[in-house]
Amino acid sequence: MVDKDLLSIQEARALVRAARKAQEEFRQCGQEKVDAVVAAVARAAAVQAEALAALAVEETGFGKAADKAVKNRLASEKLLKAIKGMKTIGEINVDKEKRMTEIAVPVGVIAGIVPSTNPTSTVIYKSIIALKAGNAIVFTPHPSARRCIAKTVEIIQAALHGCGVSTDLVSCVSVPTLEGSAELMKVADLILATGGPGMVKAAYSSGTPALGVGAGNVPAFIERSADIEDAVAKVFASKTFDNGTICASEQSIVTESVIAERVRAAMLANGAYFLHGDDLEKVKRIMERGNGSMNPAIVGKDAQAIAALAGIRIPQGTRLLVSDEPGVGPRHPFSKEKLTALLGFYVVEDWREACELCIKLLENGGIGHSLAIHSLNEDVIREFGLKKPVSRMLVNTPSTQGAVGISTSLFPSFTLGCGTVGGSSTSDNVTPMNLLNIRRVVHDLGAGVCSVPAHAAPVSPKPSGAFAPTPGVAADMDVEAITALIVEQLKKVI
Ligand code: NAD
Repeated sequence: MVDKDLLSIQEARALVRAARKAQEEFRQCGQEKVDAVVAAVARAAAVQAEALAALAVEETGFGKAADKAVKNRLASEKLLKAIKGMKTIGEINVDKEKRMTEIAVPVGVIAGIVPSTNPTSTVIYKSIIALKAGNAIVFTPHPSARRCIAKTVEIIQAALHGCGVSTDLVSCVSVPTLEGSAELMKVADLILATGGPGMVKAAYSSGTPALGVGAGNVPAFIERSADIEDAVAKVFASKTFDNGTICASEQSIVTESVIAERVRAAMLANGAYFLHGDDLEKVKRIMERGNGSMNPAIVGKDAQAIAALAGIRIPQGTRLLVSDEPGVGPRHPFSKEKLTALLGFYVVEDWREACELCIKLLENGGIGHSLAIHSLNEDVIREFGLKKPVSRMLVNTPSTQGAVGISTSLFPSFTLGCGTVGGSSTSDNVTPMNLLNIRRVVHDLGAGVCSVPAHAAPVSPKPSGAFAPTPGVAADMDVEAITALIVEQLKKVI
């Protein structure tokens, strides 16, 4: 009998070895071939978008199949459009004026760490951006999403085979353990890690260069000038998309007292159920595990499922369960990230107070990630943009769809950097350009930095403790000239 952790470690090493060999060949391909491979992978994944979505929901119990299919198409069709024409192989930029040529160098074998909340879409997306940059990728699946991730990899491998390139370019550990993931991270050339804070820390502690991106805790500030109905409808469309599994989904609404009742009415009209008393306590009891982390049993669930789990009755048609929140911190579970149909509701006096509260919420587990604002006041929007510790600020748009590039011009991505403030090495929506090195070949500009001017005489080394040059005496004057000058001066004195 072989121990599971040893099996997993051995498998990770073997897959990286095979991937390295495959990548050595793949890196010889030109841009055209690489683009053809990437297009074939994207098309194959798009064709299976619905089937993979259904499998992910069935296996993880998170989210909605229709929305997961949208995510799979974003990771394939829309991503393919976004990278069309992007130069990633060989000479990618020649600047004649600067006499500089930039050459893309693939990083090699990437370790792909995938969250359970977007398993199939993240595998499709990471495979495509890795291949586009000339790399191979080896995934380690979340144990609760093992089958759907393996199926996605199988579909991608079939497309690779059809293109006549090695199927080892994209592979997946079949026995996932923390030890196996750690080994994969150690032996890969770059880690592309998406998940919670524990995993991000593990990635950066591995000693291998890493792009690790972590949790969000997105506040949506509805400011007094906002189109309230539009803002609330967008928050609800975003927060209920795939039952709130996307890390950029809104976790709280923050609004001003002057419009609070109108916001509340719009929320009720959109299917909010405000929890009070016993109902609220019952929901709070099932939100977290003993260690204060999110209870997986409520992740990606709709309001009815959460109510059933908590043992409360809610009206038919309820879309989100909302709690009026008095504070932020460990004793207030609604102030944390909740990737499900639960939302905190905060009322403040003005935008300055909202500013402080949003920062507190971000500091409560989502620093560096994203923030949403609904406002028609450009000054307030600008102030927020200048001051908030986030990598993306989403204005008058659903934050889920905005952050992943469905409703904004952001790059279509399932790996959203949180910046150094959030413990990430990047604040980007990660693209193929994050997965390559650039070699710069630069020519001499003919500035003549090495030529010695004709008039320059050799300079004697300056004795230590030398005085500053006497005014009127040139610094490069030779010793004989200086001696003659001194003798002349002495003669005058004597
Ligand atoms: P998770 O951290 O539990 O798991 C993510 C992956 O990391 C899994 O494959 C898991 O097996 C692995 N893992 C976990 N701990 C590890 C460790 N110590 N060593 C090695 N591997 C480890 O996350 P999850 O619950 O699947 O995903 C949800 C979290 O991910 C949320 O907090 C969400 O905000 C975040 N997320 C962030 C982004 C982003 O782009 N910033 C995208 C999706 C999800």
